[in-house]
Amino acid sequence: MKLSPSDSNASSAPAITQSLWSRFARLFPYFGEPKSAWAVAVGATVLAACTEPLIPAALRLLLDRGFQKGAIDVWIVPVALLVLFGIRGMAGYVTELALVHLSARGLKRLREHMFAKLQSARLDVFKQQAGSELANTVVYEVQNGSTMLVNSVITLVRDSVTLLALVTYLFWMNWQLTLVVAVMLPAVAWVMVVLSRRLYGLSKSTQAATDRLAYVVEENVLAHRDVRLHNAQDQQARRFSAISEELRRLSVRATSASAAMKPITQMLAAFALATVISIALLQSNQKGVTVGDFTAFVTAMLLLVAPIKHLSEIASPITRGLAAIERGFDLLDRCPDESDGQFNATASKGHIEFKDVSVKYSDDAGYAVKEINLGIAAGETVAFVGASGSGKTTLVNLLARFVNPSSGQVMLDGTDVLQWQLPALRAQLAMVSQHVYMLNTSIAENIALGQTVDRERVVACLKAAHLEAFVAELPDGIDHRVGHNATSLSGGQRQRLAIARALYKNAPVLILDEATSALDAESERAVQEGLSNLMQGRTCLVIAHRLSTVEHADRIVVMDAGKIIEQGSHRQLLVNGGPYARLYQMGLGSGGI
Ligand code: ADP
Ligand code: MG
Repeated sequence: MKLSPSDSNASSAPAITQSLWSRFARLFPYFGEPKSAWAVAVGATVLAACTEPLIPAALRLLLDRGFQKGAIDVWIVPVALLVLFGIRGMAGYVTELALVHLSARGLKRLREHMFAKLQSARLDVFKQQAGSELANTVVYEVQNGSTMLVNSVITLVRDSVTLLALVTYLFWMNWQLTLVVAVMLPAVAWVMVVLSRRLYGLSKSTQAATDRLAYVVEENVLAHRDVRLHNAQDQQARRFSAISEELRRLSVRATSASAAMKPITQMLAAFALATVISIALLQSNQKGVTVGDFTAFVTAMLLLVAPIKHLSEIASPITRGLAAIERGFDLLDRCPDESDGQFNATASKGHIEFKDVSVKYSDDAGYAVKEINLGIAAGETVAFVGASGSGKTTLVNLLARFVNPSSGQVMLDGTDVLQWQLPALRAQLAMVSQHVYMLNTSIAENIALGQTVDRERVVACLKAAHLEAFVAELPDGIDHRVGHNATSLSGGQRQRLAIARALYKNAPVLILDEATSALDAESERAVQEGLSNLMQGRTCLVIAHRLSTVEHADRIVVMDAGKIIEQGSHRQLLVNGGPYARLYQMGLGSGGI
């Protein structure tokens, strides 16, 4: 399946249209457990919120009766205040603890799922998204998102309960006045909705721009030599600045939207306060409202401002948090796993057959490989030669299912590779290509990648790959860390490391895709012996641009524009005087073609 970037926009757009509830429901599997932690967090929060009206109540008691001699004991009000704040403090602490459990656990699960997805998704995912973008989503975005969301949910609970408790108290005190206060609530809600929509759009754009910024950095890190050699620094700096500028504008726009919320809610609060004071003053003349009543009412009303303000601001972290986490979900949803079959075998014989295989990388591209029919017997060594772009790499990549055929079948031991279980299939293949990647760990772990390290075997493989002397000189020997993609090693050393890795894997089918291309003729001769060791008793598919390295193959397959145009042994093909013979004469059998 081909996934275009526009698909991703389509699937991440549900945003506002999809109900907030269903978007939250998506988070439950990650952040919903353990329920006990939620119960503790919500319980403690509700408890703290319920103490809020007790503050104006205490004041009322103090003003109306505390200052009259003998009405109540002097100590009651200060002690009540201490107890009140003690409870709130404890509750706050417990809530924080419960929250960090929830968010950290949810984050861990989500990240682990995303990483597992990276390991199992179809390889398309790496074409569509840059490494920096994937890293950004898995590492940073979901972290920011989950912290923001969990905190906002608690703010939501705390402030709505506080609001409810205060409003109830106000109603109980003086319902006419409270109605005035109630008028401003829908107004605040409306402001919240309008501004949060705007914020959502802005936060999506900000994330996309941040990705592009990270991508420019990633590219410039990878291409640092080329950029300097071509004096392209200014050009790259301009590219970087353009995106930085876009981010700057977005952040100003986002802040202007979220900053507008504060004055608007405060104005609404001030308006309500002014009205209440006027009405209360009128009422006090008629109904005998006491100073305590009035102070308690105004205090409770002023206490309303904080939760309302928080609630009006909550739209921003919730929308930003959701948007960030949904990018993580997008990765999980949009990228289907590689398809897997049922067939399992521990050791294959290594009999390979291509039946009418064609490959197209995309609908509008031409065939990379067209109607290939080729059988390779177990233990046979077949060399593929042909101009660059003639489809050799594509053909061998079909075996490991790095590429899937558009039509036709690729069989290993008589079973279509699509029917094989992927781990079983890949266990049958060892590969040495120019693209072998070395992880930033020790030489031994790189060689034994995916298996436990057997130090003796590692040394034996290094010896067979003619790296023994080099490794012996390293301070830590086979425990030497190779650094980022082993770039401190020469091309030849890296390739011999790749050969040692293939030797260690000891798989029945060996694929050498320009395995010796990074080597000069001399080291190639040194490696050749290692390679011959490696090829013993296996089915080998060898792609080489130096014809001298393929002369000894059992069979040579000549490819051109995705098709097989000639095949046979070196001797036969030379006698035939066809394309191979011409290639051979041009390359004189030793140079590149
Ligand atoms: P060779 O190994 O013989 O040089 P390849 O198999 O790498 O040839 O490429 C065959 C054709 O397929 C080329 O036209 C190349 O542009 C195209 N191709 C190779 N890999 C990809 C890819 N990942 N995506 C799209 N097109 C590709
Ligand atoms: Mg190639």
